[in-house]
Amino acid sequence: MFESLQAPAADPIFAVNACFRADMSPRKLDLCVGVYRDDHGSTPVMRAVRDAENVLAHRSGSKAYLGLSGNDTFNTAISGLVLGDLAAVDNLTTIQTIAGTGALRILFELVHLANPGSTVWLSDPAYANHAPVARAAGLSVARYEYLNDSGQADPDLVACQLRNARRGDVMLLQASGHNPSGADMTMDLWRSLAEVVSETGAVPLVDAAYLGLGDSLETDAAGLRYMACHAETMMIAVSCSKTFGLYRDRTGAAMVLGPRPATIRPALQQIARSLYSMPPDHGATIVAEIMGSADLFQSWEEELAAMRQRIRTNRESLALALQEVTQTDHYDRIQQHKGMFSMLPLTPAQMLQLRTDHSIYGTDDGRVNIAGIRTNEIHRIAESIHQVTRL
Ligand code: PMP
Repeated sequence: MFESLQAPAADPIFAVNACFRADMSPRKLDLCVGVYRDDHGSTPVMRAVRDAENVLAHRSGSKAYLGLSGNDTFNTAISGLVLGDLAAVDNLTTIQTIAGTGALRILFELVHLANPGSTVWLSDPAYANHAPVARAAGLSVARYEYLNDSGQADPDLVACQLRNARRGDVMLLQASGHNPSGADMTMDLWRSLAEVVSETGAVPLVDAAYLGLGDSLETDAAGLRYMACHAETMMIAVSCSKTFGLYRDRTGAAMVLGPRPATIRPALQQIARSLYSMPPDHGATIVAEIMGSADLFQSWEEELAAMRQRIRTNRESLALALQEVTQTDHYDRIQQHKGMFSMLPLTPAQMLQLRTDHSIYGTDDGRVNIAGIRTNEIHRIAESIHQVTRL
């Protein structure tokens, strides 16, 4: 049966992670895996999540099936969080999914059902799993170059390439905290892409995996909301993994804004039914509980703001340390980037050397998790980057 089966190529992030685990150095640093860590190096359960779990533990509940759209209280709450007042429109369809990845897969499946010849336009560089998930749904992939030489989103380059998209193609954009680069689209770029969408008839799919970890919840959602006001049809894949720290509870949502909601909802449900039937409820109930309680919501917002501030401080300190050791402004981009990641302007060979000579683990493309750095490691990281780049 499986004689001809080939093992798939290892995902670059998991491959680097395996090397990290095999490294016996007590000084090893994991800047590879995309989780938020505090200054002790741990990823704690957020206070509001723990408190919501306590409330739920004492409430008499039921584990009976909910339905193909999952938890509807969660669906309403998460729609409001992401879209603000725009969630009140009657052409919005939201279903709960198995985290952000599940949302992406279900939305790609919906596109494939409606328009099997559709091409998904991905940024280059893109989140490593975007292309595999799109292809698994039967779609083809094209790339648009995303960054200029200073490691920032290049508005002219991006808009110009996306004008090649055809009617019914998908334009995959990241709401904030672009993975892997940390380079977010400016509001001007969102505005010009809204025009490109109306000129080409391509449909934007916005991946919102890092809301609240850039500038603020509102600012991080501003581009997405602008697009929602201007695009005739738009899709959104939401992940609660980072924003609520619910990584392993697999909580997210797929949203479609636009005409024909009466067809779209059963289509999304049918896709979910054939993939996994119903999503797990635990994480969604927690988010619904937090969003439904003024106290829990305030506690969650405060902790999210503290996480965001820690990432910002890490960015400033690392950029400053690199200025000092290299005597250049070559790494100032780190300070301007948003969200958990930045891409260092290092070659794959230099990233390898960081791993082998300094036990500092980022991926070959230069991606490092700024949210995974402890304050007392910043100087060593800057020194190590300087050493591998000056040879
Ligand atoms: N989109 C982006 C851009 C991501 O970085 C991630 C996870 N790192 C996801 C989606 C999926 O996240 P999850 O399935 O864990 O919610």
